[in-house]
Amino acid sequence: MNRNTVIRGLMAVVLTLPLAACAAQNSAIPSAGKATATKSAHWSYLGDTGPDKWATLDTQNAACANGTEQSPIDIELSQLKVDKELSTFETNYKPTSFTLMNNGHTIQANDASGSNTITVEGKVYTFVQLHFHKPSENQINGKTFDMEMHLVHKNSEGNLAVLGVLIKSGSENKQLAEMFSKLPKEETKEDLKLDQVIDLNALLPQDKKAFRYKGSLTTPPCSEGVDWTVLEEPIELSEEQIQSFGAIFSDNHRPVQPLNGRTVATQ
Ligand SMILES: [Zn+2]
Repeated sequence: MNRNTVIRGLMAVVLTLPLAACAAQNSAIPSAGKATATKSAHWSYLGDTGPDKWATLDTQNAACANGTEQSPIDIELSQLKVDKELSTFETNYKPTSFTLMNNGHTIQANDASGSNTITVEGKVYTFVQLHFHKPSENQINGKTFDMEMHLVHKNSEGNLAVLGVLIKSGSENKQLAEMFSKLPKEETKEDLKLDQVIDLNALLPQDKKAFRYKGSLTTPPCSEGVDWTVLEEPIELSEEQIQSFGAIFSDNHRPVQPLNGRTVATQ
C-alpha cells in the first residue's frame, strides 16, 4: 500500500464516519472532528437514558439541560412575529441517489453528492441527510403530527440549517415508496443503496409558508446555533408507511422545549 492509497483510505474513513454516526453526532457542528472521534454515551427516548437524562449521560450533552435555545418547540400561531421583509428560503434540489441507514435512533437517508443546497437568510447550506421522527417533534398550536422529517443542511463554517416537514397520515408517498419498503430494521453497519433517485423538491408540500426560529439539535449533544425552518403544511405518508417506521421506532421524539423569549418569525 503506497502513501497515496493510505491517504485515500484515511480520507474515505473521515468522509464516511460522520455519516455513520447518529443524527446528532453527524451534525456535531463546530467540533465535528472531535465529536465523531469519541463514542458518545448511549442515549434513548425512554427511561434512564431518555430526554430528561441526556445531560447527565455525558458532559458534552450539557446544553440538553442548560441550553436556552433548544428544539423542538411548540409554534403558537398567535405569537408569530410577522415580518414581510423576512427572506424566503430557497431550495436548489435535484434528483439524487441516496443511501439508507438505521443509526439506532432513526432511519436516515444520506446524500454524499453535495449537489443539493438551501439558501436561508442569504447563506448557502449544503444538504447532508434527512431522517424521521415519530411522532413529530415540533408542534403547531400544541398539535403533534404523526411524524416529522428533518432535512439537515450544513454550511462551509459548519453551521446547520434544518428544514422540518410535518407528516400526517394520508396518501402513499411515492417519492418515499422505495425507502419505506426497505427501512433497515436493525442498526446498520453499512448504508443500503437505494435504486431510485429522489427529488427533494417533490418531497416538500405545495405551500412553502414557513416558520423560522433559532434552535438546536433535537438529539444529544443538543448543540445550539441551528437555523430552523418549519413548514406549516404537512406532507402525507400512508398509514402503512407510518406503521412500517413505527414498527422499528415506535417513539423517537424529544418533547417540546421552552421558548425562553425567542420569537418565531414568518412572512
Ligand atoms: Zn431530527
